[in-house]
Amino acid sequence: MTGKRIRTRGDEGELSRASIAANFGDLHAPLSEAQAVVEAARCLYCYDAPCVRACPTAIDIPTFIHQIRTGNVDGSARTILSANIMGGTCARVCPTEVLCEEACVVNHTEDAPVKIGLLQRHSVDSLLAKGGPHPFRRAPDSGFRLAVIGAGPAGLSFAHRASMLGHHVTVFERDEKPGGLNEYGLAAYKMVDDFAQAEISFLLGLGGIEIRAGKALGEGLELADLLRDYDAVFIGVGLARPAPLDIPGRALPGVRDALDFIRDIRCAPDKASVKVGRSVVVIGGGNTAIDAAVQAQCLGAEQVTLVYRRGRTEMSATGWEQELAASSGVAFRLWSAPVAFKGEGALAAAEFAATRLVEGTLTLCEQRAQIPCDMALIAIGQTLGETLAAASGLAVKGGRIAVDANYRTSLPGVYAGGDCIGSGEDLTVQAVEDGKRAAIGLDRELRARGKGGRR
Ligand code: SF4
Repeated sequence: MTGKRIRTRGDEGELSRASIAANFGDLHAPLSEAQAVVEAARCLYCYDAPCVRACPTAIDIPTFIHQIRTGNVDGSARTILSANIMGGTCARVCPTEVLCEEACVVNHTEDAPVKIGLLQRHSVDSLLAKGGPHPFRRAPDSGFRLAVIGAGPAGLSFAHRASMLGHHVTVFERDEKPGGLNEYGLAAYKMVDDFAQAEISFLLGLGGIEIRAGKALGEGLELADLLRDYDAVFIGVGLARPAPLDIPGRALPGVRDALDFIRDIRCAPDKASVKVGRSVVVIGGGNTAIDAAVQAQCLGAEQVTLVYRRGRTEMSATGWEQELAASSGVAFRLWSAPVAFKGEGALAAAEFAATRLVEGTLTLCEQRAQIPCDMALIAIGQTLGETLAAASGLAVKGGRIAVDANYRTSLPGVYAGGDCIGSGEDLTVQAVEDGKRAAIGLDRELRARGKGGRR
């Protein structure tokens, strides 16, 4: 695997502040201009390119790579951003190894695939660094006013596309800063130098989008009021609540949600100030579990153990992410499910039951084991939360907001996208695509019905 090497206690005992800061430096070194041109030359510019089909936002990859090769880097960024306005974040956090780069035909030779993610980052970063005028223009004012709930990737992608189409958009966001998981929920070493906010500033440079912070649905912000004041509403709230893990000891100090831990790290100007246990257990098998486990190592935990109830091939974290964790010193304990947290007044151990498959069903065995720990981070997934859908009268399917093929919910005039609808993988790139497609579909409907027409 490529990428940085995490320094651990094994390297130097107690980690110094400088080592912790270095651990949170950029995971991947960006390509230089010359490296980008050389890498672009490896592309075969395939007809009906499989890499494009593997990209949820269908970026025209051969075209943007050709533009890099011929020195038109601004043009390449426009190609990327016309399909994915958050192409900078996606270049950093997309699991390219199971999307475009897995599909790259160069894999059929003995060579590594074209580094599509790094090339995409090179283009977008280059355009953003110039700080020139926004590369897209708004259509003439449509007269329609739209509300968006949630300033995460889906909401912001929707807002940008809707504004391009001539609508005025107001985005209501619970948190102080916009960005959702891009700002608060990703490993800090993937999004250095406040990139999430830089990308949002760029996105807002289009105009026609207003963000109102500190506004959450059901907490002073009501769907009925928005439907009265706006022509349509888009919901992109993600999955706001951690999935419950109701086992004894859950309330012990030291047991916490992994996303809260990640958020603390993201919000801390000095990462060394974030508290980490000496022995940390992380429960879960997705990328959030990996982000939490690796960052615990980055902060200087002595021992980090990632516990998952199935095997590594069943983990939703990609093989690359798993290797990052393993090479950073994270130990894996597989086929184990948590049954209790132990301790008197503070966490002292996590108890697990061995698991196995019995006729295809995951089953807990009698065998128990304890891992001594003073911190346990729970990363077993997120849920929509009961209040949002119930209080709003939205139909729910499979724990997510139910939508049709055009992102319409069960309520007229209300659309939804991103993780809260579960349209595919819970990936940033899928949320961006949902927001874009919902805006395009809604625009068609608004123009068909006209101002003041029935929803
Ligand atoms: Fe280039 Fe690989 Fe895509 Fe073909 S599949 S266009 S070689 S990046």
